Amino acid sequence: EDGIRDIGVTGVQTCALPISKAVISGNITLKSSGEVDAMRAAGRLCGQALDAVSKAIRPGISTFELDAIAEAVIRDAGGLPTFKGYFGFPATLCTSLNEEIVHGIPSKKRVLRLGDVIKIDCGATLDGWIGDAAFTAQVGGATGKPKKLMDATAAALEAGIKAMQPGGFLGDVCHAVEVVGKGQKYGIVTRYCGHGVGRRLHEEPSVPNLGVPGTGVPLVTGLVIAIEPMFTLGRADTVELKDGWTVKTRDGSLAAHFEHTVAMTDDGPSILTLP
Ligand code: MG
Ligand code: MG
Repeated sequence: EDGIRDIGVTGVQTCALPISKAVISGNITLKSSGEVDAMRAAGRLCGQALDAVSKAIRPGISTFELDAIAEAVIRDAGGLPTFKGYFGFPATLCTSLNEEIVHGIPSKKRVLRLGDVIKIDCGATLDGWIGDAAFTAQVGGATGKPKKLMDATAAALEAGIKAMQPGGFLGDVCHAVEVVGKGQKYGIVTRYCGHGVGRRLHEEPSVPNLGVPGTGVPLVTGLVIAIEPMFTLGRADTVELKDGWTVKTRDGSLAAHFEHTVAMTDDGPSILTLP
């Protein structure tokens, strides 16, 4: 119980119910293997949209054009752009440049320049199930400090995924992310975090980017979470812009963000958002 509070998750009980039950708390919904398969189809579509966007990133293209590419991939496959209309968000992608961390709004006025660091976050809904994933890229190719930051953030995501082992706890995942960020002395954004995902984009449990091993929700088969480390070259404090969406670093430092939707299986983690 102490461990639950440690990672900031409220209203969740651990091990109070047999793990064979459909839910491990009133708010965490476990997915059957058939449901995980359906989520993988949605996740693959999300991954394919991101893949298409990744290939289109170049100097001179606007974030509006990138958004249109992602929306076409999703709709052509019979899916729906999850973010569009979510609390009124106007687009398929969140496109966040340089000191922006997450939730940037695509625009014809935001044209990519050589060296820009762009974060692309996408949600795809297929047959009612959702995949959520994100990546960061530097326009023209990654180099120098931005490359180190992006590599570390991607490595933190990988470490978080690898920490999803049978018998483990959510705190193991959060801690694995934290260790990579701290090892490089990067700012670790904690105001925003990962989350459960399924038929809804944001489900319980919250998946913070720091935590205590051996604490929190048990990693039982059927748990599906979006793990999404956000690191900065400076401090971790954030501010929201007047557009009501875009989140940037308070100190203006560069930020990176990577995300996958991952299912817990009997054998460990299975990434659902690969193309
Ligand atoms: Mg996302
Ligand atoms: Mg997410």
